[in-house]
Amino acid sequence: MTTSNRDLSAAARERARHHPGGSLHRRSLLVTAVSLHETNTVEAARNIIANHEPLPDDVRTRALNLLNQLDPAPPTPSERSSPDMPIRHQRPPTNERKGWRKPKGSVLVTRPYTWGNPHPFDEPCPVPACHNAVHTRYEAVDLFEADLLAGTLTTRHGTRWRKPVGLTQARIALAGRDVVCACPLDERCHGDVILKWANPTT
Ligand SMILES: [Zn+2]
Ligand SMILES: [Zn+2]
Repeated sequence: MTTSNRDLSAAARERARHHPGGSLHRRSLLVTAVSLHETNTVEAARNIIANHEPLPDDVRTRALNLLNQLDPAPPTPSERSSPDMPIRHQRPPTNERKGWRKPKGSVLVTRPYTWGNPHPFDEPCPVPACHNAVHTRYEAVDLFEADLLAGTLTTRHGTRWRKPVGLTQARIALAGRDVVCACPLDERCHGDVILKWANPTT
């Protein structure tokens, strides 16, 4: 994706915001189309739309609905592998991934995706606030949770850092969805933090 594409997409979203003429459906379609064009994945487009503050709420909701038609909405409880609550799955290592498919409606939360943990462990952390500190696995997950709750969670997309997100965006993007990470299921993982905060407990 080139810078000029990104500028174009941003401009189109601004147009949808400033020119309320045209039907809600048309404006929502425009927002959906440019966001998809900019990001290439439904998941990333969903995050962009959820986080683009100037968008009127009716356009935002409609655009997210349009995206859900492309990428099925979260599976209903009876369709989920765990009927009660969304769960975390482990993505197999590269050499065992042939034929593997992401469970229906799940979200990949590995780096470099939007919900990946920007704090790695056992290597210098690139998050500016961490000043190259080397975290343990536990610290890395705690830092993810602290960022999420503070609304300061930012992940890297190429060389730039995405706009910080927090609980609101997590709930919009992830409520009701299983998550998929590379971590073994018996290890501590930021995916469990996502499950805990993105889903209502009652
Ligand atoms: Zn860090
Ligand atoms: Zn993980």
